[in-house]
Amino acid sequence: MKLASRVGQVTPSLTLAIDSKAKAMKAEGIDVCSFSAGEPDFDTPQHVKDAAKLALDQGKTRYGPAAGEPKLRDAIAKKLQNDNHLNYQRENIIVTNGGKHSLFNLMLALIEPGDEVIIPAPFWLSYPEMVKIAGGTPVIVNTTQASGYKITPDQLRQTITPQTKLFVLNSPSNPTGMVYSPDEIRALAEVVIESDILVVSDEIYEKILYDGAEHLSIGAVSEEAFKRTIISNGFAKAYSMTGWRVGYLAGPLELIKATITIQSHATSNVCTFAQYGAIAALENSQDFVQQMLDAFIGRRKFILERISTIPNLSCPKPDGAFYVFIDISKTGMTSIDFCKELLEKQNVAAVPGVAFGADQCIRLSYATDMTTIETGLDRLDKFVRSL
Ligand SMILES: *Cc1c(COP(=O)(O)O)cnc(C)c1O
Repeated sequence: MKLASRVGQVTPSLTLAIDSKAKAMKAEGIDVCSFSAGEPDFDTPQHVKDAAKLALDQGKTRYGPAAGEPKLRDAIAKKLQNDNHLNYQRENIIVTNGGKHSLFNLMLALIEPGDEVIIPAPFWLSYPEMVKIAGGTPVIVNTTQASGYKITPDQLRQTITPQTKLFVLNSPSNPTGMVYSPDEIRALAEVVIESDILVVSDEIYEKILYDGAEHLSIGAVSEEAFKRTIISNGFAKAYSMTGWRVGYLAGPLELIKATITIQSHATSNVCTFAQYGAIAALENSQDFVQQMLDAFIGRRKFILERISTIPNLSCPKPDGAFYVFIDISKTGMTSIDFCKELLEKQNVAAVPGVAFGADQCIRLSYATDMTTIETGLDRLDKFVRSL
């Protein structure tokens, strides 16, 4: 069979490969400490589940508008206004099957062969693949631990060409956990405006911030920045709703309309009763977010202190999300060899940095219980000392 050429250009997810090996080992009864999770380890809040159950009982089981339930689009517009100072109407918002799907819709609606999309590395592994599926060219800009894994305004300016259409910004970041300060966001916005390109801001971790770090949405910097901004967000990380598949994209009317047309021919509406859960998540108490954050704060403190005692490992202090991105270059190993051996010899699952465009690093997620974290780090320590 001759598959479409676009398939050959796309790399299968590496994170899933290590994850499935770890799961297979667990199924065999091996005691694996897994740091590979890309999702919070909490249950969805009860009031969200109750709202979805009620929606089911009320017969919200039929096709709905492709763009999403009007009530949810309104609730999202209100959230963006209150939390992020972004002035969107219902028409500027599409409800999608998760934040991943919102970005995919965006790439399909905006990017075509010849278009360049700037992606700072380390990056969330789906960004370049989505650009390639849309026929565009991902342009990767490497950042360093010394710069906190942040792209500088000069780096961005120097990378922009007449073909540049879009800049992908992800703060707080997966995989590094770094957060751009409001001043850094303003400086990047200036480059976006002077070059007249578009920026997509993936704000899925906006609620998971530490040590007083602040999240400023690039669209809130000025009217000129707002015109060039597209917001991607979702319910997966803030409300521990990864399996629900509800996310959204907000942006200029013409673009959102185009994504609705595409979505209407692909998936149609997001699961109707799941959308009612999402409405409840936005409209009711936000205490859950704080409770989750309180757990992450303790784990992050422990994990950072413990890593600092292990020779040949280093990581910058992450200000957001629930990951630590550890530099392993002093071990002389590639990230895949490191993660494979760590799993085989010490039963610890971590994600190789090469999946995120940084082969000198590995990613540990602390969206897991303290016992796993303590035992896993003891084993990591043992592993590194044995090299
Ligand atoms: C988890 C994640 C998303 C979206 O996930 P969904 O489950 O599709 O909502 C988007 N961007 C980043 C960086 C993520 O880590």
